[in-house]
Amino acid sequence: MSTQDPNCIFCKIVEGKIPSKKVYEDEEMFVFHDIHPWAPVHFLMVPKAHIPSLAQVSDQHAPLLGRMLALAPRLALQEGCEPYPQGGHRVIINTGDQGGQEVHHLHIHVIGGPRPWLKG
Ligand code: 5GP
Ligand code: ZN
Repeated sequence: MSTQDPNCIFCKIVEGKIPSKKVYEDEEMFVFHDIHPWAPVHFLMVPKAHIPSLAQVSDQHAPLLGRMLALAPRLALQEGCEPYPQGGHRVIINTGDQGGQEVHHLHIHVIGGPRPWLKG
């Protein structure tokens, strides 16, 4: 099992200690629905290992992050987003307090669905 932080809410979700609606799981990553969705489709992709944010990512994490990004569009389609280019989705990584990060376990927001929710 990867390194976990006992006080981290997303580590607890990865370990199944807090329930979540799972979208996908493999050895290195866990994907689940956001509890307060901003849009019709909104899920979070996290590494199973506790990495606090994108600021702590190094070359050793690059293959996993690449795999996560490559998987995002496939899972977005599976969760109800329409295909590129008319459909599509947003991919967001909030980093640090000024970046709007509230949970300090690296996560990728994947957000999509019909457009009225989208500002800007
Ligand atoms: P951040 O602001 O850190 O980028 O986003 C954290 C996200 O985690 C928020 O969108 C919030 O709704 C979601 N979140 C926080 N706690 C939980 C939880 O216990 N379960 C799930 N599924 N999502 C959570
Ligand atoms: Zn964690």
